[in-house]
Amino acid sequence: MSLIVQNVSKKYNQQKVLENISFTMKEGEVLSILGPSGCGKSTLLQIVAGLQDLNDGEIRLNDQVISSKKYSASPETRGINMVFQDYALWPHLTVEKNIGYGLKMQKKPKEKRNAKVQFLLDLLQLQGLEGRYPSELSGGQQQRVAIARALATEPKLLLLDEPLSNLDMQLKFEMRNELSKLLKEFKTTALHVTHDPLEAYALADKILILRNGHIEQFGTPHEVRGNPASLWVAGLLGMTNRVNGIAHSSNSIKIGDHIVRAKGQLEKDERCVLVTGTETTTIHRQHVDNSFAGVISHIVYEGEKWRLIIETNEGSVTSLTDKIYEKGDKVWVEIHPEKAWIYKES
Ligand code: ADP
Repeated sequence: MSLIVQNVSKKYNQQKVLENISFTMKEGEVLSILGPSGCGKSTLLQIVAGLQDLNDGEIRLNDQVISSKKYSASPETRGINMVFQDYALWPHLTVEKNIGYGLKMQKKPKEKRNAKVQFLLDLLQLQGLEGRYPSELSGGQQQRVAIARALATEPKLLLLDEPLSNLDMQLKFEMRNELSKLLKEFKTTALHVTHDPLEAYALADKILILRNGHIEQFGTPHEVRGNPASLWVAGLLGMTNRVNGIAHSSNSIKIGDHIVRAKGQLEKDERCVLVTGTETTTIHRQHVDNSFAGVISHIVYEGEKWRLIIETNEGSVTSLTDKIYEKGDKVWVEIHPEKAWIYKES
């Protein structure tokens, strides 16, 4: 199996929603398209599924053109199945019949169908629920049925559109781990859409970051997290601590009276922004190497740790600590040079 998406562009009326999108996927690979709402993720997935036409470019599945300007293979002939955000189960069919629906359409013999449905019921821990209707299931159970139904016909490619977004926090966490395990066990080739970086890290071999219809970054989760291509990507990935300063060298920034090293490619004296995650800063009562000063403006107790909001003249920072501090304390925020980035101010 290989999917080749080449220079795909799409307009709705006169609005460009996808511009020159190109990527390839190999057999067994999971690719996550990550981006904020409205960036074109669902449109791209629907074009691959054959539910939307493209205006330019070409898509090939196993070396066969399935979408181009001149031709669009109908969705049911593509060998692609989709799991929708709202599950889209047949409300009038039981769990068993929902899962077996595609196999019935393919006119598979009854014994084979039953054996496959049984296998998927076991795999997705749905035993005992086979006779229930979707309205009699919890969100997590409906999600499992939708996944089982999509896997039943062994599609060449599985499309997952925000598959966990309707689940509550705890279930989302559990299903994320389960889905990650399942996709790898089945060696499923899957194209997955999400706005949640943690979901993309957990499921993806490669992440494609989409911004206003163009590719902002493409790489493994580790590459993307380790080197966000822009200040915008760093924000999307949840690195919310931002402090302004002046570039001291190509990879250091002057914040107040202190110089802090991080990853960067700057020109000396340009205005720039230091970016880090909450978990990667350490708080001290005295000055240490690679730190800058601030004053605690607010403290939130979170059970294991305290979350400190620290104000500097150049921005505010959030940090976690297991030590006791008080509002108004002067502290130094130590930056891990491999886990912080400096970008030119945009
Ligand atoms: P995402 O999945 O990233 O939230 P979408 O692909 O749904 O983004 O939408 C991308 C852009 O295209 C948005 O501006 C949206 O309003 C617009 N759009 C989506 N579907 C249609 C449609 N059927 N007709 C017109 N505009 C649409």
